[in-house]
Amino acid sequence: MLLEFSAAFSHHCGKHMRALCIFAQPGGVMIIDSHTHIGSIACFHLSEHTLIDSMRRYGIDFAIVSNLEGIEYISPHEKIERQVPQMDLNRKALVFVRANADILRMLFWIKPNTEGMTEEARSFISANREHIAGLKIHPFHSRLHISDERYLPYLDAAREMRLPIEVHTSFDEYSRPSALHDIAARYPEIDFIMVHMGLGTDNCESIDLIRSLPNLYGDTTWVSPDSAIRAVRECGSRKILFGTDSPIDGSGTYERYAALLRTIRDQLTAGEAHDVLCGNALRIFFNGMAPASNGDEAGAHE
Ligand SMILES: [Zn+2]
Repeated sequence: MLLEFSAAFSHHCGKHMRALCIFAQPGGVMIIDSHTHIGSIACFHLSEHTLIDSMRRYGIDFAIVSNLEGIEYISPHEKIERQVPQMDLNRKALVFVRANADILRMLFWIKPNTEGMTEEARSFISANREHIAGLKIHPFHSRLHISDERYLPYLDAAREMRLPIEVHTSFDEYSRPSALHDIAARYPEIDFIMVHMGLGTDNCESIDLIRSLPNLYGDTTWVSPDSAIRAVRECGSRKILFGTDSPIDGSGTYERYAALLRTIRDQLTAGEAHDVLCGNALRIFFNGMAPASNGDEAGAHE
């Protein structure tokens, strides 16, 4: 299934998108953006149309998307007044990814502070597992330290259901990379993606942490090209995933990643670039649906 999917998708992209692919990589390697959003809440307005349209314009073949309407706090001192129920926001994401199933899968955005893991959420995820690639945790916007026990029911569900988890990391007290490392060490069966590799830091500590655990990965969202390459050199190309937060800055968000994609093309081997741009995402997010294809994403090559 994984191989079929990859081959079908490469074909699809080759036919319809390659002429416009500003980011086209040598050999036509597919690009999966492992970190995108939709949703309108507080100061965020990320439209479904903008995401799809910019993927097309920039030649992004596939994206993992989550609905940021799950944020519980704007800042530690400001709670979202009108909370969007956890099930509502994820149902909305499901409708969107279902309608675009050839290019999207979603992460279930959790609300551990104001709600919690429920039987309903669990059934929703398992009934829609083909569209739901994992969980999304945002400790800062949930105002909940990643080590808080209110995450435990979600972590247990992720372990049972073989769901990888993307976790926002930064220098604030809730989102520390070292705290995520400690959780990842306690849950070796779960793959954790350390989103941003410590936003607003020089990424050095995060790179060390990612290198030290087999189930802890890094993504390139808001990471400089130099740091991203250093992460690949130090952790290995199978530990770093391409991600962007698109369309956080509108339809031109991908422009900010042009330098990164050029650097990946120029400084990594074809195999390393393939890992970062699609191979790791295929292995981590699609493995649950294709256990027989474990680790073999050769079909993504054209
Ligand atoms: Zn994000």
